[in-house]
Amino acid sequence: MSNEGQTLVRRSFFDTKIEFLKGVGSQKAALLNQELNIFTFGDLLQHYPFRHEDRSIFHRIGELNETLNAAQIRGRLREWSIVGEGNKKRMVAHFTDGSGMLELVWFQGISWMEKNLRPNAEYIVYGKPVSFGGRWSITHPEITLTGQEQGSGWISIYPLTEKLRKKFIDSKAISSMMRSLLEQARPHIRETLPENLVQKYRMVSKFDALWNFHLPQSQAWLHQSQRRLKFEELFYNQFRLLKNKLLHKTEFPGLIFDNQELVSDFYARHIPFQLTGSQIKVLQEIHDDLRTGRQMNRLLHGDVGSGKTIVAFITMLFALDNGAQACLMAPTEILADQHYQGLKKFADLLGINIGKLTGSTKKKDRALIHEQLLNGSMQIITGTHALIEDVVQFKNLGLCIIDEQHRFGVAQRSRLWAKNERINPHIMVMTATPIPRTLAMTLYGDLDISAITELPAGRKPIKTVHRYDAHRLSVFGFLRDEIDKGRQVYMVYPLIEESEKMDLKDLMDGYESVSRSFPGIPVSILHGKMKSQDKEFEMGRFVRGETKIMVATTVIEVGVNVPNASVMVIENAERFGLSQLHQLRGRVGRGAEQSYCILMTDYKISKDTRLRIETMCRTNDGFEIAEVDLQLRGPGDITGTRQSGLMDLLISNLSQDTEILKAARISAEGILQLDPDLLQPVNLPIRTHLATIRKEETNWSRIG
Ligand code: ADP
Ligand code: MG
Repeated sequence: MSNEGQTLVRRSFFDTKIEFLKGVGSQKAALLNQELNIFTFGDLLQHYPFRHEDRSIFHRIGELNETLNAAQIRGRLREWSIVGEGNKKRMVAHFTDGSGMLELVWFQGISWMEKNLRPNAEYIVYGKPVSFGGRWSITHPEITLTGQEQGSGWISIYPLTEKLRKKFIDSKAISSMMRSLLEQARPHIRETLPENLVQKYRMVSKFDALWNFHLPQSQAWLHQSQRRLKFEELFYNQFRLLKNKLLHKTEFPGLIFDNQELVSDFYARHIPFQLTGSQIKVLQEIHDDLRTGRQMNRLLHGDVGSGKTIVAFITMLFALDNGAQACLMAPTEILADQHYQGLKKFADLLGINIGKLTGSTKKKDRALIHEQLLNGSMQIITGTHALIEDVVQFKNLGLCIIDEQHRFGVAQRSRLWAKNERINPHIMVMTATPIPRTLAMTLYGDLDISAITELPAGRKPIKTVHRYDAHRLSVFGFLRDEIDKGRQVYMVYPLIEESEKMDLKDLMDGYESVSRSFPGIPVSILHGKMKSQDKEFEMGRFVRGETKIMVATTVIEVGVNVPNASVMVIENAERFGLSQLHQLRGRVGRGAEQSYCILMTDYKISKDTRLRIETMCRTNDGFEIAEVDLQLRGPGDITGTRQSGLMDLLISNLSQDTEILKAARISAEGILQLDPDLLQPVNLPIRTHLATIRKEETNWSRIG
């Protein structure tokens, strides 16, 4: 079946099948394949520990306390017995160290334990101690005969599965495989970074780094190995992004937009307000891009309300001024409509034909739009992914603006660009979520970045407060006063998919209680399960001021703009992430009046929740909030990052490794500037390593 014997390419050491590693064999190999996707020596080397533990510290049973996440105890195994029946059946062993008694409990692997445990022998046990009626116990402890432990210092804890543990492939077992692999691999592991970088940043060698990351000799070595591997990971991450960016800049020609009649006219006669310094700076950056003869690939981010719409509109005018069309694609219908309304206000001033195309556009209208886009009489189109359908063709599409890029796949986006066969349209990605610098550098590292960092002048900062549910009466009193002054109020309830039914009930209960508490005041309700036309109807009533309170789920998170609404009440605020709270708050503070955001929670909230709420109460700055969010949640959980594919960082943590990331990026930039094709001998390690990464990727796709 296999023709490996005839293959012409010499297989590298790292491609060796894992079953050939000493002590593995075909059975364990099958498990490693199945459970961890480890097929080769190379795969195992890259199976990194997610944590290291200091095993030089020993605890005494008499000194155990509930705050310990794990304890290591040296002692003797006394008698044991099997108790319980069925799935409660367990083995309980008594373990003593002279200072007290500890119960060790196993639900699984009992027969193996019985056969192999040696009564009265000295063991080292490790695990989380829990106390039950004054008795300490550890369930499924790690247990090692004294003298057989893996060194007494730092050990690695690996990602594992239950199935592996049942077969006794635990972190200890992986560590010992790793030891034998690393010994064998020593002559094959090559340096992956240029010598000058290794020296400049005083990094340990690749081999030492791998060895000590898996089998740390000391805390200092562990630290150095982490620093080195993180640097390498981030360096290659940045190198590839920047290389891509460079390719775009050199390989992809772009339309040159240097006429600006509409722009000048708009500036001179129609612009309804003075642009902020930040808007002007960003427009300058964009305008510069549009004249280089290269395709623009730029990210525009700025907080809610920072005025991205007008920046988008003026960017579109540059295209229109040069005989090209522009489109704006948004991830949802509500957002697409909001953009349409926002842009249309400006477009109408100049007599520009702007349209909207979404899944719910009527067939007849759709046909007309298609026709006008093709013959060029429609200059601007906004819409959802309906825009990328093949039937949608343009006469001369020159600019694509994509809102909230992470919700679109790369493939979808490129279908949009392909709508100009002659030359790639310019691309601007827009997002309403301020992104911390480190995240922007990795997530959007291949784009140029523009950030609107100030809000239009004269905005009153929103006042944010935290109130407990018990204070609802006084909160309602405050709402009544605001409504009496002519303002409108949002009350938002969480809606999380897993508990949709319960949430819907909470929302309905809330609606009823609000209706009861505010007799005579008309209340709207809005949630995701409503029909599109019902939503529009309710939204319409609120926009026109016919209803004073909008009880809603997070469907109002994006795109809703009612300047007269000045109070945002967020119920169960503990159930929202920080960036979501900030997005929601952004729905108010759009008019001239002082706006308020009231975060309601129960008395009992976790530490993280408290920090989120305190952050919200302290600041309105989206960039600052994004930083706290990143610290709290880590990059993996921030919306969109997981799907981005750029985030498969194994070791680095973008919320902590900011300095390493900066150094890695600067290094990559420097090398690309001086030696973009990596022809200098000193850069040979990069060339070789990139080739391996590429090969691994193909392997990966074959497996996955
Ligand atoms: P976002 O960045 O959230 O899309 P918008 O573009 O919707 O923000 O702008 C928010 C509000 O601020 C709109 O009503 C807009 O007309 C107004 N606005 C934008 N820029 C300015 C400015 N420079 N001065 C005053 N108001 C502005
Ligand atoms: Mg907007």
